[in-house]
Amino acid sequence: MNSRRDFLQKLGVSALALHLAPLSGFASCTDDRNKAYDGPVLRVAIMGLGSYGTRVAEAMQSCTKAKLVGVISGTPSKVKDWQSKFKIPEKNCYNYENFDNIKNNPDIDAVYVITPNGLHHDQVIRVAKAGKHAICEKPMSVNAQQGQEMVDACKKANVKLLVGYRMHFEPKTLEVIRMRKAGEFGKIMFFQGQCGFKIGDPTQWRLNKQLAGGGAMMDIGIYAINGSRYMIGEEPVWVTAQETKTDTVKFKEGVDETIQFQFGFPSGAVASCLSTYNMNNLDRFFLDGEKGFAELQPSTGYGPIQGRTHKGELNQPVTTHQTVQMDEMAGIIFSNNQPVVPVNGEEAVKDLKIIDAIYLAVKTGKKVDISL
Ligand code: NAD
Repeated sequence: MNSRRDFLQKLGVSALALHLAPLSGFASCTDDRNKAYDGPVLRVAIMGLGSYGTRVAEAMQSCTKAKLVGVISGTPSKVKDWQSKFKIPEKNCYNYENFDNIKNNPDIDAVYVITPNGLHHDQVIRVAKAGKHAICEKPMSVNAQQGQEMVDACKKANVKLLVGYRMHFEPKTLEVIRMRKAGEFGKIMFFQGQCGFKIGDPTQWRLNKQLAGGGAMMDIGIYAINGSRYMIGEEPVWVTAQETKTDTVKFKEGVDETIQFQFGFPSGAVASCLSTYNMNNLDRFFLDGEKGFAELQPSTGYGPIQGRTHKGELNQPVTTHQTVQMDEMAGIIFSNNQPVVPVNGEEAVKDLKIIDAIYLAVKTGKKVDISL
């Protein structure tokens, strides 16, 4: 980073810190939120101004180390709304045709891609070619090969690629991981991840194979996949999976409604998970070890996350996930900080390899070996 950018970023944070002062009681963020911060601020443009993009933009108003400064959208009216709501200058507004020009914009450090899954691959590669860091929503793409191409493109362009795994910064989740590492559950034997909701509007992109890459597995099942890895602390070596479909009109060929899947891990631990677009009240992780257990329910929703272990209720602070995520990502990008659970492109490729294996297991009815 050049010194001019450094200087401007420091200026930016001072203004932001003042702006945030009255919000200091807001339940969110890191322990040092109220301390003066004079390090670099990650200046972010959001691509895709939909429902999750909006949530991220609002959460970023409480960030200390990251700031929303730009937008990329195909809808001019949304751009206008965001400009006035988030004070975004005209020179930082792009559309899907011209956003490669962001390479000439010294006031944007990173682009956060929050569009339908099937578009992430091409968009992230264009961001990398424009010389900007890429933050991409989950699933990072629709298969492992595309994911690897994204990782390679970002490496080649010497930019970072991070994925919106907000749970990797969530305090109760991190406490369970800490306890597992400290041996407080003893030898881990079993994980159960239940993730799903009943999806509405049949015309939405989430039910379009081209844009979604699949169905519930891509959208919500991925939380159980990723969760089984960070809760158990190992990578699965085999997968089995079974699909059920009750509505072939809504859930067309290639769009999964409900899949149950199982993993085996090197230690002998096993996992049993459910991914569905056709049942509500499913947001639960359960980890069982020889000496104790942990249960998170809700486990991956926007919060508050709740949970308990054999030692009692978990009472770590409630956070706004996206605020903490973006502050932490600034530290990863600028200071090479290493989060407890990685959020880089390689981490996302592992999930995509597992998704590929789950779909193969469904198709063949056979146990599929995985090597991550
Ligand atoms: P959404 O439909 O609300 O928004 C998608 C945005 O992409 C819209 O603004 C839309 O205009 C834009 N878009 C651009 N090209 C498009 C095209 N060809 N077709 C349709 N829309 C197009 O969706 P969302 O819920 O914001 O999800 C966006 C991404 O964020 C997905 O990858 C999703 O998995 C992810 N997401 C992550 C979380 C999380 O908790 N990490 C939560 C929700 C969504």
